[in-house]
Amino acid sequence: MSTRYLKLSKNELNKRTDKLYQKLEKCDICPKKCRVNRLKGEKGYCRIGSLPIVSSFHSHFGEESVLVGKRGSGTIFFAGCNLSCVYCQNYEISQLKAGQEVSFEDLAEMMIELQRQGCHNINLVTPTPQVPQIIKALEIAIERGLRLPLVYNTNSYDSTEVLKLLDGIVDIYMPDVKYSDEKLALKYSLVPDYFEITKRNLKEMHFQVGDLKCDKNGIAFAGLLVRHLVLPNNLAGSEKIFEFIAKEISKNTFLNIMDQYYPAYQAFDFPELARKITDEEYQKVLSLTEKYGLNKG
Ligand code: SF4
Repeated sequence: MSTRYLKLSKNELNKRTDKLYQKLEKCDICPKKCRVNRLKGEKGYCRIGSLPIVSSFHSHFGEESVLVGKRGSGTIFFAGCNLSCVYCQNYEISQLKAGQEVSFEDLAEMMIELQRQGCHNINLVTPTPQVPQIIKALEIAIERGLRLPLVYNTNSYDSTEVLKLLDGIVDIYMPDVKYSDEKLALKYSLVPDYFEITKRNLKEMHFQVGDLKCDKNGIAFAGLLVRHLVLPNNLAGSEKIFEFIAKEISKNTFLNIMDQYYPAYQAFDFPELARKITDEEYQKVLSLTEKYGLNKG
């Protein structure tokens, strides 16, 4: 079971990196389309320039068991984000941009170090604004012997065009699907078209990698793994998300329905977000997966 990027020619990978880099000149790496020249130091909404910014990297045991196995998921947390969720559970990293600018060689070395530690995969957390930089570092890491599956752990607000350039590079797509109601996405994450773009991206991701596939030890090596964080007062609009996945993606989609929401960052400014979810709310969302014949992870 070779990773997909090892099957791509060096030349092809290099072409993809160039195409991604060209996008930084008038940045449209994500649907925000800020059109700033990040190669000349200009910064857009995500405030990330031309070098990668990493908050931390380590073997992580808090992810899904299919990623963690016995030796952990080799997680790299990238700083900054292209969304501004008022309740962000990771706001120090995403909004306050806690992290350090690193060279491509340093980022490649982090990947190699995680492989050395025995991790089952390289798990890129919030990769969206830094895709060109990540792929450039990946090229170096491949030269140094990287062979672990690449996990693209995203908020789903990606450019579909960029995802197409990642075909044959990413092994596991792990989109977090946040809302089905565009008005609520605008209110809480400041984007007007979240679900429309997410639906398109889920189709592209599934087209590329299919349903999640695991080896004989139960460790995922390719496919789609969808996450969904249940919000209080049904603000995530879970039913419409499940209906879409069941009807237009696959009933065999690996779905992780998360119950750990807690009010963080600016959530206390929004009374409807200012509490944890109840057990009843969580059970109700779980029962919806049965209604649509979906497999829970
Ligand atoms: S990646 Fe950053 S600068 Fe580029 S379009 Fe998105 S938010 Fe704007």
